[in-house]
Amino acid sequence: MKAEIIDGKQAAERLRTEIGRQVVRLREQHLLTPGLAVILVGEDPASQVYVRNKARQAREASMASFEYRLPYSVPQEKVLELIDRLNEDPAVHGILVQLPLPPQVDADRVINAIRPEKDIDGFHPLNAGALATGGDGMVPCTPLGCLMLLKHRLGDLAGLRAVVLGRSNIVGKPMAALLLRESCTVTIAHSKTRDLADECRRADILIAAVGRPRMVPGDWIKPGATVIDVGINRIDTPDGKGRLVGDVDFDSAAEVAGAITPVPGGVGPMTIACLLLNTLEAACRQHGLPVPQGLMEAAWG
Ligand code: NAP
Repeated sequence: MKAEIIDGKQAAERLRTEIGRQVVRLREQHLLTPGLAVILVGEDPASQVYVRNKARQAREASMASFEYRLPYSVPQEKVLELIDRLNEDPAVHGILVQLPLPPQVDADRVINAIRPEKDIDGFHPLNAGALATGGDGMVPCTPLGCLMLLKHRLGDLAGLRAVVLGRSNIVGKPMAALLLRESCTVTIAHSKTRDLADECRRADILIAAVGRPRMVPGDWIKPGATVIDVGINRIDTPDGKGRLVGDVDFDSAAEVAGAITPVPGGVGPMTIACLLLNTLEAACRQHGLPVPQGLMEAAWG
């Protein structure tokens, strides 16, 4: 194997430690405890794990954590009422609604109901618009985590050719906007892209966010490229336990790439760390305090 493994788990642990330090400092100096509210609708096992991890890591970073579990059959109005209440609650600085939602609850209406300054997922149209136009808003956690890993490995990204595979509102589009902000030359590829392999082979930076297990083989990758695998796909295994794989075929890709994130242990842990970072930032902004800068640099020493 040639590629360097980008250890997202370790990077996220260090970042969370730095965030925890800043949270303690905020409490000591300003009597302010950042608060994260997570809403889970239904009992999807994967969502339950994500919510539990987010709440635990918030507490470990000395934040206040509030969990709301609603039944799968909950009417939309009840979800909106809860969001209204949390919008008004001064102890809550960040609100996250775990997706997907059941069919009777319109995800767009729910996202739009969260006050933009408490929208730590960065999905509200005002935050998406700020990112697209170079403004100052909440940046979605998964692309933010990917960008941190890239900058840590590559430093200045200006002029590099980046291909983002996938154009969802939560990963692909904000990822492309962030890379453009870093002055990369960005291509967004999707299910209608012609010659996908050729597009990928031109990439110095390849971000895979398609949700298709091991779709990207090693021969789609430019030698020495940096590969960020966002995909989380559960596949069956002979022992019946199943396991998680990414959107990239790790073994063949690692023979060609310069660096690659593993699944699990790559992007996933950074997503949660960035959620905490956004909550910290939201709390500071809501109280007119300066937002702590350079946490990632401090984390990596
Ligand atoms: P999504 O909303 O389903 O979007 C998938 C995108 O991939 C779409 O733009 C789709 O194109 C494109 N696509 C699908 N099949 C393709 C193909 N055969 N060739 C080219 N493009 C194809 O998924 P998402 O929410 O962005 O998530 C993507 C993956 O990331 C999933 O595995 C998800 O579990 C994972 N994820 C991980 C994290 C994390 O923290 N690590 C966070 C979020 C998501 P069209 O638009 O043309 O349909």
